Amino acid sequence: MSSRRNFLQKITASAIALQIPDFVLGAQEEVIPQEPYEGPVLRVAIMGLGSYGNRVAGAMQASQKAKLVGAISGTPSKLKDWQSKYGIPEKNCYNYENFDALKNNPDIDAVYIITPNALHKDQAIRVANAGKHVICEKPMSINAKDGQAMIDACKKNNVKLLVGYRMHFEPKTLEIIRMRKNGELGKVLFFQGLCGFIIGDPTQWRLKKELAGGGAMMDIGIYAINGARYMIGEEPIWVTAQETKTNPEKFKPGVDETIQFQLGFPSGAVASCLSTYSLNNLDRFFLNGDKGFAEMLPSTGYGPIKARTNKGELDYPHVTHQTVQMDEMAGIILEGKKPIVPVDGEEGLKDLKIIDAIFLAAKTGKKVPLKL
Ligand code: NDP
Repeated sequence: MSSRRNFLQKITASAIALQIPDFVLGAQEEVIPQEPYEGPVLRVAIMGLGSYGNRVAGAMQASQKAKLVGAISGTPSKLKDWQSKYGIPEKNCYNYENFDALKNNPDIDAVYIITPNALHKDQAIRVANAGKHVICEKPMSINAKDGQAMIDACKKNNVKLLVGYRMHFEPKTLEIIRMRKNGELGKVLFFQGLCGFIIGDPTQWRLKKELAGGGAMMDIGIYAINGARYMIGEEPIWVTAQETKTNPEKFKPGVDETIQFQLGFPSGAVASCLSTYSLNNLDRFFLNGDKGFAEMLPSTGYGPIKARTNKGELDYPHVTHQTVQMDEMAGIILEGKKPIVPVDGEEGLKDLKIIDAIFLAAKTGKKVPLKL
């Protein structure tokens, strides 16, 4: 048997064991020839043509169920560039002043908001009022109050609100969740999430409270919060937090450099996490139960994700996270598919409630109770 056939069989067997949805394998174009797709396609406009917007646009080219058809930007030269690069027609291009006119454009179904965090709320509400589905990058907004306003606006306009939690579709993440649900790790009592990188340019929006809503926590610490919830499989009931700042010049008031925090869960499980803008090589999840463990290192980067459990290395092919995410989100919006781990506004809101509580706990030094 050829090694290619062996490989394909291995992937297929893994997929069956994992119950990985077919979209995951569909993204492996170099491995499995794709069947021509004839189902519904989500027509997406991206708002904010920055670093991550470009990554999503590139990844969407390989998506079967989502197609990039529009762009919203404050920079006319980027719109010109995207028009020629992705074949976007002029009539599907907008700026931040005129995008309410999306309501008169029947060729766009959804807008993917990939702008600085503090802008998400108003932009999402305007998109919802234009009658378009909203996909919004993490953090969904900069506090729970704003997050709730986004949910309310989407409900009122009868459009969906999804948050760009790409790890919720990542095969190794899903396998560890399956193992935990299946009792293979036993009673889980501990999770550790370490998330950070050394942030560069001190003038960037990520270091401005009015645009970022905070510092490392909003940007990278949120992965540990979200990961603690999907890895442990419960919602936290209390939080404690400690903040340290070694560079107050770079990290102004309201912009957190480093926060350690702990989350307590109803079963008695505890998560111990670190969020920082001052350490590199910090992208590790560790989940421990009385029968086994799972370690992911790296755990949330663009990949390949590496993961092992007490049973050995998890050996599944790398998929481009954003391609899979867009295929799956199209399925959620157009076909009512239910993801294994939710990516809706309520999911985004839970993380924002926890972030609000972490900031309060860090400020007061007190244990803050949570009700999600
Ligand atoms: P960038 O700074 O690279 O891009 C943001 C873009 O937003 C800009 O290029 C600009 O695009 C637009 N924009 C509109 N108003 C402003 C403003 N006042 N200041 C700066 N930019 C503005 O940021 P990223 O792409 O890295 O991040 C954007 C969002 O995506 C954030 O919420 C971040 O958390 C999230 N993100 C998510 C990742 C993930 O893995 N899920 C990874 C990276 C980021 P234009 O010129 O077109 O208007």
